Order: sequence, then C-alpha cells, then structure tokens
Amino acid sequence: MQYIDNIIFLILLVAGFGLFGKSLLKIYRNIRLGHEINRSDRKSERWSTMARVAMGQSKMVKRPIAGILHVFVYVGFIIINIELVEIVVDGIFGTHRFLASVFGESFYSFFTATLEILALLVVIGVVVFFIRRNFYGVKRLTMKELFGWPKHDANWILVIEFALMMAFFKMNAADWVLQQRGLLHELGSFPISSTILGPIFSNFSDGFLFFTEKGAWWFHFVGILFFMNYLYYSKHLHIILAFPSTWYANLDKKGKFNNLDSVTKEIKLMMDPNADPYAAPAEGEAEAAPSKFGAEDIFDLNQVQLLNAYSCTECGRCTSVCPANVTGKKLSPRLILMKTRDRLEEVGRNIDKNGKFVDDGKKLLNDYITKEELWACTTCNACTEACPVLLDPLSIIFEMRRFLVMEQSAAPQELNLMMTNVENNAAPWQYNQADRLNWATEN
Ligand code: SF4
Ligand code: SF4
Repeated sequence: MQYIDNIIFLILLVAGFGLFGKSLLKIYRNIRLGHEINRSDRKSERWSTMARVAMGQSKMVKRPIAGILHVFVYVGFIIINIELVEIVVDGIFGTHRFLASVFGESFYSFFTATLEILALLVVIGVVVFFIRRNFYGVKRLTMKELFGWPKHDANWILVIEFALMMAFFKMNAADWVLQQRGLLHELGSFPISSTILGPIFSNFSDGFLFFTEKGAWWFHFVGILFFMNYLYYSKHLHIILAFPSTWYANLDKKGKFNNLDSVTKEIKLMMDPNADPYAAPAEGEAEAAPSKFGAEDIFDLNQVQLLNAYSCTECGRCTSVCPANVTGKKLSPRLILMKTRDRLEEVGRNIDKNGKFVDDGKKLLNDYITKEELWACTTCNACTEACPVLLDPLSIIFEMRRFLVMEQSAAPQELNLMMTNVENNAAPWQYNQADRLNWATEN
C-alpha cells in the first residue's frame, strides 16, 4: 500500500511539473514572437531594481495597508511552499516530516511555528482582499473591464490560497493531537493549529485523525500542483513574471521616447552632404530592423512589451491615475495590456493548431485596440509611474500610434495640422515665425 501511495505521488508530481513546464515553454515561445530589444545594459541597476521592486515590493507599500497585506500573502505563500520540498521527499520515500532530520528537532520546531504564523497572515490577507474586492467597492477593482473571467480569476486564486492554508492547518492540528496521544513521534511546533483546531480535533478518533492528516497532506500537495498549473490561465502569472519584467524594465527617464534608427539614419544622410548612402552599416547598426514603422499586431511589438502583457497583475493602479480614463475617455492602460495578452494568446493557439501562424485576418489594431483608445492617451506616463511591477502600457500605445501616423498617415486632423505647422513654422501654431513675438506687442 505504501508503494502504491509513492507511485501515485510520483506520477502526479511528474505530470504536474511536466504540464507546468509545457505552459512556461508556451509563454516563452509566444514572447519570442515579438522582435528583440537590447536591454542587457546597466546590469547592476537591473538586479537592484528587480530586488527592490519584485522581491522587496517597494512600490506596493506606497499604499501601506493593501501593500503590507500583499507582502503577507506573497512572502507567506512563497515561504510556506518551501514546505513543498518536505512534501516531495516524504511523498517519494514515505518518510514523515523529513526536514526535521535535516534541521534538527529544535530548529524544526522554530521552522514549523514560523510557517504557521505566516500561514495565518496569508489567511488574514486573502480574507481582507476577498472582502475588499467583492464588497468594499474599490473602483479600479470593480470596473466593467474586469467583468467575467478577470473577476472570477481574482476570486478563485484567493479561494485556492485560503483552501491550501486551511489544509495546512488541518494537517498540523491532526498531527499535533496524534503526537499528544503518543501515536506519532513529537516533531515540530504548531502554535496556531493546536490553539484553534486542537480542542476540536481532540474529540476525534485516532483513525479519523490519521485519515484527516493524510487527506489534508494530499490535498495540500495536489492543491499546490493545481495552483501552479492554474497560473498560466491567470493574472497571477505575475508572481513569476514580475521578476523578468522588472529586470527588463525601461530604465530611461520617463518621457524619453525611442527614435527609430532607420529614420535617424535617413535624416543624417539628408543633412550630411558627405555621407555615403551605400556605406556598409557600422557595427551594432545592423540590428534587426523592423519590417514596418510602429506596431499593428503583436509581431511588431518587442519581447519586453509582450512579457509585460503576460506580467500584468490587472490591479488597475495605472487606470485609476490615467487622466484620459478619469475624464471618461475610452482608454484604460490596464486594458491595453489585457488586450495585448488576449491577442498574443489567440496567435499562440493559432500556432498550436497549424504548426505556424496562419493569417486569421485579425490584428491587434482595430480588432482589439481601437484608434479612439490610442488617441485618447496624453502620454503623461502616470500609468508607468503607478505600476507596481514597472510595466509600460504607454510604449504599446506609442508604437501603435507610430504605425497609424507613419504607415497609414492616419493621424487625427488636429495632429496633422499641428505637424504641418511644426514643419512650416517651427511651432505648433499657424503663425509665421516672424510674428511669434506679436503676443508681447502692447495694443
Ligand atoms: S500615458 Fe496615456 S495611458 Fe498612461 S496614464 Fe497617461 S494618458 Fe493614460
Ligand atoms: S499595467 Fe501595472 S498598474 Fe496597470 S494593471 Fe497592470 S500591473 Fe497594474
């Protein structure tokens, strides 16, 4: 019987991790559909940004209550899953609380007590988040754009985390009572479960307690595998992708836009009478040139932008500070990333089905993101400033606008007029340069 347990455990473990690996490979393949961008500069700054923002959650604690609760849930959940190591070893070799033999019994008691306190903090965090999300009416969490799957997803993950923590407490409480009865060797310290569940579990029979302990252990194990595989379908992918997203974040000053090398080169050629238009490109200049100006579909975005689409937590902090959204325009920076992810996933499914991408007659522009949304953006950067994981929805908006202007000449009339004025008058207004000081003339 013991061996059957071990074999089932191993099969589930391999299947769970195998499926998870497959999902990660799919995400990697999809991200690589974008074009490369060189973000390998300033490495030490990148490491420290990642440590500060993704690991240290520095931007989350700007809103202290929600931030600290988020830290509870995040840190608690990660550390508690260290326990997965113990579960795996116990599951494969049929041992009981394997880490006690590694840590020594007294440190193991400290370890299990710490895990219990962290688990309690996770429970407090998820309960508060559930109430806040569903009953407290925080505007950015109850907006129409979250109706349907995004809202269910956010709730499901809280329910799963709650259930996993409850299984953890039940397992420990049953274990503790069995240890008190001398039926198991005394290992670990369980201050929370023994206090809350111990008195209730003391009334149960030995057989039921063994069953509960084992059942909760299996539930916890299968639950972790399920959670891991659920991530692919969830905004909670950010618990993994926040790390690369912050590492590859744009470290330039906000407001600094990228110039197109091809355009810069053309202008230099025009301005320099000695330039040789047929000269071989200088080293580094020959980087893969985009096949078009700006972005019409996900293939035209860069890999960091596609990584951003997968990393969005859908928290809506960007949308809540977006002046366009606040004043009733159609634009929501959160939705820009959600739609980019939806389109990317659609393209991924197309590739899964056909072996390569087969034109489906759709594009990110118009089929997902409308011109109205794009032109509502003031390029103020409030969204990038607010994002807790340094995502950059503005860069996608910017690239799509670049496509509209440079490939389709489809800028709004007001902009065309302004651009003509800049070209002719070196100013956005329709006045001749010679008249530009007229405003100072006294009548
Ligand atoms: S940059 Fe655009 S999308 Fe971002 S907050 Fe400003 S107006 Fe909104
Ligand atoms: S872009 Fe950033 S701020 Fe906006 S919803 Fe996504 S994670 Fe939140």
